Amino acid sequence: MTNQTDFTTPIFGTEASSEDVVMSRLRKESVEPEVAYRLIKDQLIDEGNARQNLATFCQTYMDPEVTQLMSETMEKNAIDKSEYPQTAELETGCVNILADLWNAPNSERIMGTSTVGSSEACMLGGMAMKFRWRNQAIKRGLDLNAQKPNLIISSGYQVCWEKFCVYWDIEMREVPMDNGKLSMNIDKVMDYVDDYTIGVVGILGITYTGKFDDIKALDELAEAYNQTHEHELVIHIDGASGAMFVPFVDPELAWDFRLKNVVSINTSGHKYGLVYPGVGWIIWRDKEYLPEELVFDVSYLGGHMPTMAINFSRSASQIIGQYYNFYRYGFDGYKEIQERTKAGAVCIAKAVEETGLFDIYNDGANLPIVCYALKEDADVEWTLYDLADRLLMRGWQVPAYPLPDDLDNQVIQRFVCRADLGQNMATALIRDFQQCIEELNNARILCHEKQEAHVHGFTH
Ligand SMILES: *Cc1c(COP(=O)(O)O)cnc(C)c1O
Repeated sequence: MTNQTDFTTPIFGTEASSEDVVMSRLRKESVEPEVAYRLIKDQLIDEGNARQNLATFCQTYMDPEVTQLMSETMEKNAIDKSEYPQTAELETGCVNILADLWNAPNSERIMGTSTVGSSEACMLGGMAMKFRWRNQAIKRGLDLNAQKPNLIISSGYQVCWEKFCVYWDIEMREVPMDNGKLSMNIDKVMDYVDDYTIGVVGILGITYTGKFDDIKALDELAEAYNQTHEHELVIHIDGASGAMFVPFVDPELAWDFRLKNVVSINTSGHKYGLVYPGVGWIIWRDKEYLPEELVFDVSYLGGHMPTMAINFSRSASQIIGQYYNFYRYGFDGYKEIQERTKAGAVCIAKAVEETGLFDIYNDGANLPIVCYALKEDADVEWTLYDLADRLLMRGWQVPAYPLPDDLDNQVIQRFVCRADLGQNMATALIRDFQQCIEELNNARILCHEKQEAHVHGFTH
């Protein structure tokens, strides 16, 4: 070894430490593990602090016990059901728990799987709708070549739906957002439905605003349509952020399988399921809504087990992490955590409102998200982009971005509150927020022109 002088050489005196850690070609020689660890860890040192990243819905804290459990199970491949049958059982357990939480009418008839995140889950939900629509359209004698199948969704959709439509050659029909409610305009939805509609997506937690589509109203429209048409209008719920939050804080709200035409629901385990990034879920209310062509067999203890995910190999540790959370917290634990998170968001929203400078778009009352725009008549020289910069100086990552076109490109700013934003941190955030505004009010140099509207920071 030439890159380590001797055992007394400190890590920052090694040859490796005098070279760039970021390689574009493989190094010729090896580096000692402790040196490699330190140098790569240091390479990441000036990155944003995840705990202060209020731009993301993704979990940034888990118990040390589960972190250990997950790191001890990283080598398990989730698809090897035969080698890891107990792990497979935990996954099935999670699927059953979610189906129950979402009020599936018949637990014997459900189908479901873990995925890498909601994106894979949405892809599966969309594919199931497309295949089922096609099978039924053939039976009805519809000319499949006359036009493309279409999917109906509000213009507040997350990018994964755009991907789904591009990958599967589906026409995306965007229902405008209702300006007052910042969610799908229910009065207009049916204008977009025809025989080529594979389904409607209702969003439980629009990424940009945190608002919920009125899914009960959507279900009533679908029911009325289905009473008079042979073509069946089905609903998929994109509950990436809301489906593991609402059942605990607002169990009365009917958005799930209690509604007859809701056939599938996805969620991100790594959002309010409280697991580190890498896990999502999808559940179908009944086997009927997941065409057989999309179900494949893997071997399982000498027999077979159905699999419907797109990905094959991946670590089971995230699934085990999800199971740990379900097991450790139970219903009451989740409820308490989510309610506390919500209380923090409401408290932050109040502080934002009290400045008198902002119109509040979301006050944390449904999802724990605080969303606001600068008042049109706010007598200030700065923009939300300046405020984002200023907050970043104190470590807070907060995006500012324009809303979709039909909401006039209004620039808003958003705090996503998560379980690890405790009351102390929320208080620190409020104090910093107020001080940043004061600093901006006294500042002379502005970096962001008032008119420009662009995405500033990560918004998903
Ligand atoms: C985050 C999000 C997604 C994508 O989820 P991933 O788990 O990050 O793949 C899809 N839809 C909505 C509404 C989201 O908020």
